[in-house]
Amino acid sequence: MRELIGHHEIIRGLQSGLHSGDLAHSSLFAGPSGIGKATVAHHYAQALLCTNPQNAGASQLGCQQCAACHKVELRCHADLQWVEKEEGKTRISVDQIRELTRFLSLTPMESNWKVAIVDDAAQMNAAAANALLKTLEEPPANSVVILVTCRPGVLLATIRSRCVKYYFHALSQEDFSHILRGQIDLADDQWETVRNYSEGDLGFALRFVREGQLTECQQLIQEMEQLMRAGRLGKLCEVAEYWSQAERFALAQFVMRQWITQKVRDCVTSGSRPQRVRAWLTVESFANEFFSLAETNNINKRLLLEGIFIKVLRISGAVL
Ligand SMILES: [Zn+2]
Repeated sequence: MRELIGHHEIIRGLQSGLHSGDLAHSSLFAGPSGIGKATVAHHYAQALLCTNPQNAGASQLGCQQCAACHKVELRCHADLQWVEKEEGKTRISVDQIRELTRFLSLTPMESNWKVAIVDDAAQMNAAAANALLKTLEEPPANSVVILVTCRPGVLLATIRSRCVKYYFHALSQEDFSHILRGQIDLADDQWETVRNYSEGDLGFALRFVREGQLTECQQLIQEMEQLMRAGRLGKLCEVAEYWSQAERFALAQFVMRQWITQKVRDCVTSGSRPQRVRAWLTVESFANEFFSLAETNNINKRLLLEGIFIKVLRISGAVL
C-alpha cells in the first residue's frame, strides 16, 4: 500500500466530510506536480469504497486492509474508474469522458459510491471538458468525481466552480525524504543532489534516479565545480564538447540551470557581496537566454556551453 504522508490539512478536510456524510460530488486536487495529489486521490477513493472504514487510523483514509482498499490500490474495484491520457495520445478524449459518465450513472456494485478520478484533468480536450461539465452540472446520485491537476488554470472556469477545491502545497523536506527513502537507496551526497535538483517533485526524483540521470548529473556538477576551482580554461572545451552531444544536451541544460540557480541562492543566503550576487544573476539570465535560443534555433551547442562556462569562470576570478 502506498503510504499517506504530508498534506495533513487536506486529509483532515476529507476525513471530516466522510464522517459527516456531507460529501462533494466533485473535488479538484490542485498543486505542483509530483507531490502526491494522485496518491491522496487514491486514498480518498479507498475511504469511500472501504468496507471497514471504522478501522482506518487517525491519519488514514480507508482501512488499507480490506479487499476493497486492495482493489482500489490495484485500480480494479468495480466502483472505481481511473481516467488518464491513453498511451500514445496527447489528450484525454471525449470518448473517455463519455465512458466515465456512463460508469457514474450505474448503480454501485460493491459499495455505496461510484468514484471517478481524472488525472491529469488539464489534459482533457475541449470536447471532453464540455462533456465532463455536463456531468458535473447534473451529477448522478452517489457519484464522486475527483479531478487531479498541476494546472488548474487550464480547466474551464465553469468546471472549477463546480468543484470543492483542495490546494496542495509542496511537501516538507522531512516528508519528501521520508517517502523517497522508502523507495530508493542512495548515498548521502546523492540524497543532497536529488533533493536540490528535484525541487520537491517526487515523481521527477524517482525518474531521475531510476533512469540513471543522477550519476550523469553529479558528473557535470563535479566538472563545473572543478572548472571554477581551477579558475582557468583547462578542460573547458572538452567538457563542452561532451555535454553538447544530442543525447546529453537536455540533461546538461537542466543541470546547469539548476546549478546556477543554486549558486544564486547560496550567495543570497550566505550574505555574499552584492557584486557577487549580481554576477551570478547575470550568468543566470545569460544561461536562460542561451538555452531559450537553443530551443528555437539550430545553434552550435558546444559554443553555447563554452559561452556559459566562460561566464562562470569570470566569476571565479579567472583571467581570460
Ligand atoms: Zn478498507
